[in-house]
Amino acid sequence: MFKRWLIILSAFIILVFSSTVCKRAPKEFDILIKNGKIVDGTGNPWFYGDIGIIDDTIVEIGSLDGREASKVIDAEGLVVCPGFIDTHTHCDMDIGQLDNNANLNYLTQGVTTVVTGNCGESVSLKVKETKSKWEKQGIGTNIVFLVGHGTIRREVIGEEPREASVEEIEKMKAILWQAMKEGAWGMSTGLEYIPGRYANTKELIELAKVVNEFGGIYTSHIRDEDTHILEAIKEIIRIGKESGVRVNVAHFKICGKENWGMMKDAVKLINEARVKGIYITADQYPYIQSAPIGPILSILEIPEDMMPLMELRRKMRGPKLTEEEREKLGEQYLDELKKALSNKSKRERIRKLTLEGLPNKPSAIAQWGWHNYTILVAEKNKHLMGKNISDLAREQKRDAFDIVVSLILDEPDMLYSGGSMSEEDLQLAIRQNWVMVSSDGSARPIIKEKEKPKRGHPRAYGSFTKVLRKYVREKRFLSLENAIRKMTSLPASLLQMRNRGLLLIGYKADIVIFDPETVRDNATYANCRQYSSGIEYVIIGGKISIERGQYTGTLNGKVLLLTKNI
Ligand SMILES: [Zn+2]
Repeated sequence: MFKRWLIILSAFIILVFSSTVCKRAPKEFDILIKNGKIVDGTGNPWFYGDIGIIDDTIVEIGSLDGREASKVIDAEGLVVCPGFIDTHTHCDMDIGQLDNNANLNYLTQGVTTVVTGNCGESVSLKVKETKSKWEKQGIGTNIVFLVGHGTIRREVIGEEPREASVEEIEKMKAILWQAMKEGAWGMSTGLEYIPGRYANTKELIELAKVVNEFGGIYTSHIRDEDTHILEAIKEIIRIGKESGVRVNVAHFKICGKENWGMMKDAVKLINEARVKGIYITADQYPYIQSAPIGPILSILEIPEDMMPLMELRRKMRGPKLTEEEREKLGEQYLDELKKALSNKSKRERIRKLTLEGLPNKPSAIAQWGWHNYTILVAEKNKHLMGKNISDLAREQKRDAFDIVVSLILDEPDMLYSGGSMSEEDLQLAIRQNWVMVSSDGSARPIIKEKEKPKRGHPRAYGSFTKVLRKYVREKRFLSLENAIRKMTSLPASLLQMRNRGLLLIGYKADIVIFDPETVRDNATYANCRQYSSGIEYVIIGGKISIERGQYTGTLNGKVLLLTKNI
């Protein structure tokens, strides 16, 4: 009898002992962020508080004085908020390359999750395979994968300029269904591009219905961002209405000087649709210039058979060229281009292709017009900066093409942009509570210490930090809380992502800590490869990627999957 009691007693002691040992002492955190100004992502006013993290999750928020952690971050004077979610990037095109996989141009803006596969093009339709490939190699930020409609259509129809047959739509639906099943978050379209432009609204509605079955999103580079933008917005509203899917207007903007001011009509249309219960949002990058951006000589379109120009162009695109080799090829190209332009028949062919394009492939000028082409950076011709080519043609009473040719001969590396917006339109859009911040950029290689300034669009390096500097701190146009909501819970709500985008207990520890007095974008059109500053800490899934403003060299991202059992 006594023996039996002894066994029961010792079993009881072991049980009690093991339960206290196994249970983590409540005061232990992996990371404790103290004394920060917490902006939780909802848009509500900030409050002082501490955040406790265990593993990849936020486990406590409040006053955590006297609590211990393996790592304590003192955030005094700093803002603590959810990691930024960028709903519009093209990172999938580059992040598979070893030099780009850290996605440091985004981490340094405080972005912890990028949505990729936008404007109708995704690098792959195989979500699972891509996930394991990228995660094996390591990625610096989380990735949300969209399927490109253009990518699917190309697989089924190629680039033929025609509507899809019923069977072809069925084939496209099957490909899309499989990608959604594997964890894609939705479908993107690029309706100004080939082959997306050949799709009619019915095709898009049929595909959007598949996305809706999985609870995904439909995000679109709409059919027109210029003169016919209102029709293009009506089309996306119809797609949302008839398929039931949540829709998003990508890189919301009005291009072309003649159309400036139309933003108020575009906003009105969207507000009316929202009142009627359509889920429609938009994302926007905070710049009034769009891509393409490049040296002015690249405006010219060269016929495929015009040698040696085409051969030189191909060589220049080679991935393994040194900077010197690329420069040398550039000089050769310029010499040959000058020769071609002084030959009457060659110049005429270049003019025709640049102005018109091919029968089924209108040129950029034919689509967007000279009024979109603006001189961004010039040295010799500084007085032309900010002017667009059609204004110059009017002022000088000369043909626009001839003006471009003379500019090329005079200053060939002068930088142009192929789409221009107005600051008033931009500000009207950013004020809408359904417009989120995005970048439209991609994953760039890590900047080496000694690099020559590179001209180009700064948005991949500075979109989020530009909003915090310009529209929050300098212009006081957005409150800090509102701006952060546009970078966190608003995109998370579009995606219906249930564990990111807010600082809440149980949410993933994707957190940014920055200095509101110094945070800024440093990238410019004249020197676009410059990281932002003032982002002090970036934590992804409970792991520190940026510490005291410096990259820790770790790859803490994951490919996130949308999972719904169907
Ligand atoms: Zn686009």
